[in-house]
Amino acid sequence: MEAHYPFSLPPLPYGYDALLPDIGERTLHFHHDKHFQTYVDNLNKLLENHPELRDWPLERLVQEWPRLPEDIRQGVRNNAGGVYNHDLYFRTLAPGPVTSPMGPLGDAVARDFGDLEGLRTAMKNAALGQFGSGWAWLVSDSEGRLSVVKTPNQDAPLPLVPLLLCDVWEHAYYLDYQNRRPDYFEGWWRKVDWPGVSRAYDALLENRPRRAQ
Ligand code: MN
Repeated sequence: MEAHYPFSLPPLPYGYDALLPDIGERTLHFHHDKHFQTYVDNLNKLLENHPELRDWPLERLVQEWPRLPEDIRQGVRNNAGGVYNHDLYFRTLAPGPVTSPMGPLGDAVARDFGDLEGLRTAMKNAALGQFGSGWAWLVSDSEGRLSVVKTPNQDAPLPLVPLLLCDVWEHAYYLDYQNRRPDYFEGWWRKVDWPGVSRAYDALLENRPRRAQ
């Protein structure tokens, strides 16, 4: 993802048929090429007439939208969030085989959720418990402690560090699963790129602020 304006659509990191049978080709074409593209275009349009915001990184727009001028505040909230969330969503999925958390992330999942099944249950409860559109997230604080949260619409849980997220907008699953959000969750879970998510957690631990001894 670009550091700042103008943002552009990153390519899908795998083929459109790579997530079959859990997530279908038509879903990926619409979700990535249409929905994600629209968030990118809308965000650029909102920033077009605000040169003072053009060097703001995406993460800053996502976190500091309440400080923005009123005419673009809600639009940036929705569309910067949409860009940030979808970029991470597609990058944290991968073609099979099914994997599981590795190294320090595996240890942290055991510590904070009991085991991988405990994390799956917490994520599923968040995904199914989000009324209407939104997201379920696995996040870390700056010390590496994990938790699961949900957000409405395109809100993101920053400054907590997102590791993994399940899109529960109907556009993410309706073509494949119609109204069966629980079945979509199971398909999504099978396609999580745990090696990649584990590497992101390693990087977070390496960069965490050092505590004074
Ligand atoms: Mn989406």
